[in-house]
Amino acid sequence: MNISKLEQPIYVTRPLMPSYDLYTEKLKDIWSSKWLSNQGPQHIELEDKLKAYLDVDHLSLFNNGTTALTVAIQALRLQGEVITTPFSFPATTHALTWNGITPVFCDIDPHTMTIDPTKIEGLITSKTSAILGVHVYGIPCHVEEIERIADRHGLKVIYDGAHSFGAMIDDKPIGSFGDITMFSFHPTKLFHTSEGGALVCADENLKQRIDLLKNFGIKNETEVIMPGINGKMNEMSALMGLCVLDIVDGERDRRAQLRQLYLEGLANIPGVSVVAVQDNVINSQQYMVIRINEDEFGQSRDQTYDNLKSYNILARKYFFPLISDYPCYNQLPTAAADRLENSTVISNQVLCLPFYGELKDSDIEVICQVIKSKRSCYE
Ligand SMILES: *Cc1c(COP(=O)(O)O)cnc(C)c1O
Repeated sequence: MNISKLEQPIYVTRPLMPSYDLYTEKLKDIWSSKWLSNQGPQHIELEDKLKAYLDVDHLSLFNNGTTALTVAIQALRLQGEVITTPFSFPATTHALTWNGITPVFCDIDPHTMTIDPTKIEGLITSKTSAILGVHVYGIPCHVEEIERIADRHGLKVIYDGAHSFGAMIDDKPIGSFGDITMFSFHPTKLFHTSEGGALVCADENLKQRIDLLKNFGIKNETEVIMPGINGKMNEMSALMGLCVLDIVDGERDRRAQLRQLYLEGLANIPGVSVVAVQDNVINSQQYMVIRINEDEFGQSRDQTYDNLKSYNILARKYFFPLISDYPCYNQLPTAAADRLENSTVISNQVLCLPFYGELKDSDIEVICQVIKSKRSCYE
């Protein structure tokens, strides 16, 4: 193999950038209106367009996904304990903690890597108020089983859908499951607003409560009716979202092509498997994830990560470590590794590979060659 260290790093992702001229042209409207935040025209237009795009009843924009999730928990008046997955980004569990709720970690299904519904009921106590699942890498949770369990025990359901923008289960939009779904519009996400997020729900009263909570609880000029927070999206971010929304389908199509190239390049390597969504699911194309089985591949995930890094290819170990292993959570009774066997094994196997539309076909070839070679640049 005669690949040498790349001069420019290949990152795991790059934000989707709209045309600078288009953005700045539209920015003039914001400048002349002097309306920079608080439900301005860009905000209204983006909410409408996203509601249609995601095919949901109600959508509220936020300044980021973490605030949105924190507000979702408030909006549903959750308390006590919430059953969740340790295999996610820190924000999922932190949003519970910021609401004074004790996270209860549930192990994941070894195939989908989402919360294992067969292990949820054993964790329910008199204090449990909800289930918080994550459609990790855009792979939907076992939504029907979770709904049945929630109905049986009178629990609410929230989904962290940060990775699942545009995903569908059969012909149902991903945001139509559970009481509330959160989306993140951070630049690392397929669709972004530079920073931003949203909550979607089907209940109109809930939407009203969410909108009050994200704006200090202000009902009108003389009435503040609940202790809200500032979760508002500004007009420059909303405009970014409108510009990115116009090009997001093209980006998703290109990523689907890249995924195909990865599948070909990584086929028939014992111990290396490409993570896929279920057959009846439309892929959000948020991440390109592989799992490395060290015994079969003869090399650990960490060694493969280091090899890629030596060539200046910057993959990421999402999600390692588990949230339950953070010092702020590892003393919880449900954080013990022997109760989270699948999560522990999988967080040591997964590797997110570079995945964004601007990558060249030849980049994918190089990345697959490096993985296959099991060597660093210096060997
Ligand atoms: C990105 C992400 C978040 C946080 O979203 P922000 O918009 O960055 O606050 C939450 N959960 C998951 C799973 C994420 O990937």
